[in-house]
Amino acid sequence: MNKPLEKLGYSFIRENIKAVTFDIDGVIVPTGTFLRENIDGTELTIKTYKLSAEMVSMLKELKKYVWINFSSGRALLYLQNMLGDILWDRVTLTAENGNFILMNGKVEQIAEYDQKYFQKITDIRQDLKRLKEEKPDSVYGFEPKHVIITIHTAKKMSEIEEIVKKHDKKRELYCLWTSEGYDIGHMKTNKRTALLYLTGKLEIKPEQMITTGNNLNDKEMLGFGIGVSVDPEQVSGEYAIPKKKGELGGEILAKYLLEAFVTQRTE
Ligand SMILES: [Mg+2]
Repeated sequence: MNKPLEKLGYSFIRENIKAVTFDIDGVIVPTGTFLRENIDGTELTIKTYKLSAEMVSMLKELKKYVWINFSSGRALLYLQNMLGDILWDRVTLTAENGNFILMNGKVEQIAEYDQKYFQKITDIRQDLKRLKEEKPDSVYGFEPKHVIITIHTAKKMSEIEEIVKKHDKKRELYCLWTSEGYDIGHMKTNKRTALLYLTGKLEIKPEQMITTGNNLNDKEMLGFGIGVSVDPEQVSGEYAIPKKKGELGGEILAKYLLEAFVTQRTE
């Protein structure tokens, strides 16, 4: 595990790789979303990063050689706006930790839930809102999502895990720290289940796809295909790019893949 990227040979990439899945936050843009919501939830401010101009041009070139998928815990609407420069051909967007995919002009919900699930998520959200009222300096608010909850907090808070446990007697939910808050959703869906769906649609094998990630919600995804972790202290992959301040692992990977496909570098 966590072998240096240089061990992934250029000719192997050229001959085998048909698709690449990029995680977003911490991989192709820096982490550190700013989110503030007022107590009634009637005002919301979000500030995030955008792709570097260099990354946009690298991705435009790369998609001539491989299918590009983006997989994130973020909402689809956000991804569509953020990645507008490189849409639409040979690109898919996978949102809310594997719940939605936008492919070939169509939005699909990959997993279905019954109303009990939505009621549970709603009840948890109500309790989290009360926690926000009690601790406005630690709980910043919610990111708009359809089927999962993303709550932004100043730090890890055991109260949040307790609220989830209280409502989830059957233990069917995950509650994962994302370094800017928590993602809460159903365990039957994750980024890996979406990749199974995608590789089926693309008619390729998992080992023909490179995956990237930096966080706990990327664990299953990095175990699918050829995983490249960009934060091996958080999560492991078959390969890893060591985390360095001021550098984005996703950009390093894109550059490496272009060396294989475009400049036809030999090892
Ligand atoms: Mg991530």
